[in-house]
Amino acid sequence: MSFSSQSFSQEIVRALTECGYEKLTPIQQQAIPQARRGHDILANAQTGTGKTAAFSLPIIQKICDNPKPNSRFNVRALILAPTRELAAQIAKNIEDYTKYVPVSVAAIYGGTKMGTQEKKLEQGLDILVATPGRLIEHMELNNVSLANLEFLVFDEADRMLDMGFIADMRTIMGDIRSQPQTMLFSATFSSQMNKLANEILRKPKRISVSPENATADTVAHVVYPVDQERKRELLSELIGKKNWQQVLVFVNYKETANELVKELKLDGIKAVLCHGDKAQSARRRALDEFKEGKARVMVATEVAARGLDIQGLPHVVNYDMPFLAEDYVHRIGRTGRAGQKGHAVSFVSRDEELTLVQVENLIQQRIRRIQLAGYEPANRDALLTKMHTKPAFKDRRGRQNNPTAQSDAERRVRLHRAIKNRAKITKLKK
Ligand code: AMP
Repeated sequence: MSFSSQSFSQEIVRALTECGYEKLTPIQQQAIPQARRGHDILANAQTGTGKTAAFSLPIIQKICDNPKPNSRFNVRALILAPTRELAAQIAKNIEDYTKYVPVSVAAIYGGTKMGTQEKKLEQGLDILVATPGRLIEHMELNNVSLANLEFLVFDEADRMLDMGFIADMRTIMGDIRSQPQTMLFSATFSSQMNKLANEILRKPKRISVSPENATADTVAHVVYPVDQERKRELLSELIGKKNWQQVLVFVNYKETANELVKELKLDGIKAVLCHGDKAQSARRRALDEFKEGKARVMVATEVAARGLDIQGLPHVVNYDMPFLAEDYVHRIGRTGRAGQKGHAVSFVSRDEELTLVQVENLIQQRIRRIQLAGYEPANRDALLTKMHTKPAFKDRRGRQNNPTAQSDAERRVRLHRAIKNRAKITKLKK
């Protein structure tokens, strides 16, 4: 189901196309038509399902259909999120979706200056994304008026309750004089959540999508234990010997992606790149070549490959294990779609074994190991010296990788060597 079939304006569809969205995700298919009709929504959905677009696109379209001049401190749509990161991410998504329409959006959350936020609020806003605590601070200073609110969203409402925001949520609702269309999104439903939903929603349409920790039954998962520096050879060998024709390869770093594409080409395997440094047009070209079979391999980073839908993709390779076990599910979700057979291959070096265990716990399945002769991981000493040689970086969720990891590994190797040497010296002395 396409976005234009949902009668979104051309400007919105254009922005969504630039985001790489072609079809609606299941939660969007369910929520968007109901929200466009003006119903309250009670949705059971987790992050990663496309819920942000599910609640924000109907609001954006309605605001475009009924434009009003901003009046001081007034807000038309309020989206409440439990954390700063989520609030910032939602606002960023909405900025992307509203690139070609005159809809104003801002995020307010703790840890940033009140003054700057006050200026934004003073101008009046179409859409405000906020964490409850910071919003209340502004409400107390009369920096924001919810009197004419038309749309209200509670995102990750279960986390808001877990974080003890219930009193804040009630305070905020107490300030709303209008009867906004209200949408509540939550991954879990406790009795407290159901009570809250009963209080704030009017005849809500209930929506649910299956949890994201499930991979299709038609996917065969396989792990190849291998040292990091032998992965490239292993990939070329498997592609050649097993005659894999269409392979989506996930790596964690853009640099790895660049190198890998070059080396695969040297091995005579046509490969294309899909990562965040590539312009949208270049990514699209790469994707087309891959889909049409002009390139046998596409090497992608997680973020760039988000939302890519490649019909009937037979093989997905985790060249690097993802940072988060949940991302394994997202990556693998690209194969074995619609009942077709899929093949999920992971190259796991010793320092990625922990992630493998987390993945197995998440998908509740032990993955078959295949030890290819000639690719047995080297001994642990050799491995330790090569561990964590990446410089400090921020992963795509903004968390700092531990920059001391390298020195820890080195320290352990040095210690190991020192013990060995001491043993040798003692022997010689005897
Ligand atoms: P969310 O659950 O809202 O955090 O969305 C998860 C990811 O899916 C985000 O990276 C979105 O940009 C992406 N996304 C949302 N809707 C679509 C869509 N219809 N097609 C492709 N990607 C999407």
